[in-house]
Amino acid sequence: MIGIIIVILFFVFATGKFEKHEVAKSSYALGTLINLRASGNKAQVAIDKSLERLNEIDDRMSAFKESSDVSKINLNAGSKEEKINSDTYFVVKKAIEYSKALEGTFDPTISPLVKLWSIGTKEEKVPEKSQIEKTLKLVNYNDVIFDEKNNSIMLKHNNQALDVGGIAKGFAADEVRDIFHQYDVKSALIDLGGNIFALGSKEDGSSWKIGIQNPFKSRGEFIGILSVKDKSIVTSGNYERYFIKDGKRFHHIIDPKTGYPSESKIISATIISDNSIDGDGLSTGVYIIGIDKSMKIIETIEGIDAIFITEDKKIYKTLGIDESIFTLTDSEFFEEL
Ligand code: ADP
Ligand code: MG
Repeated sequence: MIGIIIVILFFVFATGKFEKHEVAKSSYALGTLINLRASGNKAQVAIDKSLERLNEIDDRMSAFKESSDVSKINLNAGSKEEKINSDTYFVVKKAIEYSKALEGTFDPTISPLVKLWSIGTKEEKVPEKSQIEKTLKLVNYNDVIFDEKNNSIMLKHNNQALDVGGIAKGFAADEVRDIFHQYDVKSALIDLGGNIFALGSKEDGSSWKIGIQNPFKSRGEFIGILSVKDKSIVTSGNYERYFIKDGKRFHHIIDPKTGYPSESKIISATIISDNSIDGDGLSTGVYIIGIDKSMKIIETIEGIDAIFITEDKKIYKTLGIDESIFTLTDSEFFEEL
């Protein structure tokens, strides 16, 4: 009997089956800071594989890399369809779904306008009105032509261009989640530049606690806390990438109807969902569409919830967000009921 116990104990220690350890690693990909934290015996390899996968997604979808699928589609705009990897095809297809669901406020053909403004780069400027009007004509999600059989995409007109920056991080977070599952990671925090996936629960079994950034304060100051297990949390805000000119803030979420940074009263839109691609695609669009429509649209989508902050410091929550999920911690903000 003792012999058997020793054998079992030896087996347990030798395989490290009951060992617990958290592995964390930071890196840079998809134009942002990546922080991965995972627990489990295979956490290290799960993280390494995930970072490889993130670089692969970056190589395929970056608008800044000449050999990316997105660059190739853009180069051939108005002339020929481009056969692309199924990851990119899937992301562009999803992006168009959100364009339709959000009345064109989300539009992956926004690229010429994003370039014109160049917000967050050395070239950022307020463009001439005439330039904006001319560039606006190139933006139209109906001009993305799909060829399902060949995995090909083409943009209808010359000089049109895709930008999947508003949705790619969501796709990437879901891919990391899937890799973590493959390597038996049951507890992890995936943070792709604030695009968060809280996998499972914390090691002690309690919920992950995720702060919602105060849009008026510096990074790390929260208006409230979300308690979640196995959820994606994505926020689009006006406080990450912007510049100020003549006292006016110009941020990086462009309204495809006007060509200017969105001026809806929403300054922060957080989507809580099972899949991060939904959170990312929706958060950018609802930000633009305004509070009344946003609330209505999100309420109609099963399994997806949202928290919005408006410029007058009001907080709007969809019905699925109860006290067990969200706690307001900053008394300067008011919850609208
Ligand atoms: P972040 O990338 O800062 O986390 P978002 O997910 O909201 O924020 O995406 C913003 C990015 O999406 C912009 O930097 C730009 O590349 C792109 N973008 C800007 N406006 C739109 C829009 N109306 N529709 C689709 N993508 C947009
Ligand atoms: Mg987004």
